[in-house]
Amino acid sequence: MKILVIEDDRIVRTLVKHVLENEGHEVTVADRAETGEKMALEDDHEIIILDLGLPDRSGLEVCKTLRGNNITTPILILSAYQNTDTKIAGLNTGADDYLTKPFDNKELLARINAIIRRVKKGDVTNNIYECGELKIDLVSREFYVRDTKVLLTNNEFNLMAYFMKNPDRVLYKDELTNNVWDINFDTNTNFLNVYISYIRKKIEELTPVNYIQTVRKKGFKLNSRPVQEYD
Ligand code: CA
Repeated sequence: MKILVIEDDRIVRTLVKHVLENEGHEVTVADRAETGEKMALEDDHEIIILDLGLPDRSGLEVCKTLRGNNITTPILILSAYQNTDTKIAGLNTGADDYLTKPFDNKELLARINAIIRRVKKGDVTNNIYECGELKIDLVSREFYVRDTKVLLTNNEFNLMAYFMKNPDRVLYKDELTNNVWDINFDTNTNFLNVYISYIRKKIEELTPVNYIQTVRKKGFKLNSRPVQEYD
């Protein structure tokens, strides 16, 4: 598998490259945001490992630029920033996962494999699901509200896909996090609430009805016949 590593710290970069090459991956590296971005735009990679603190620009901006250019390659952020806001910001710009430095090599590989499994899962499911005015295509990874395409980040898409496959059923928070993210983030279900609010906002722009209903003390439910107001 072809992996791009964008990391300015030589020791970390060399270590990651070594670990991945040992697993049989083909690894290209960049030590600046600009070169990394260029490589990601010009060549296909199966996964991008991205540091946040780069000398010329922040990794978050790189992530935004790539997503803005329709590069859907999964991105794993590698960063020394431990706070939840930075993690959420990273995931919200379209990254798929976040790993805090220092990290264990085994955890790095586990995260990469989990991301790849999620992507492949989406590829092999040849299905379109509809729910009210919502439609999701798991093959092209497109989501529509009233036939208008809505851009979702990978994490938002995976979450929405799970909802669309399980409409009109209370989905407990544990069930959602376990099924949407194979391995748990090193934090709690707060991520889930954040993602749901992002998705709701995107749906809300196109329809006045509330599809994703909060079920108090339990979780959420995707309504195929929703009510008009938001809760
Ligand atoms: Ca750095």
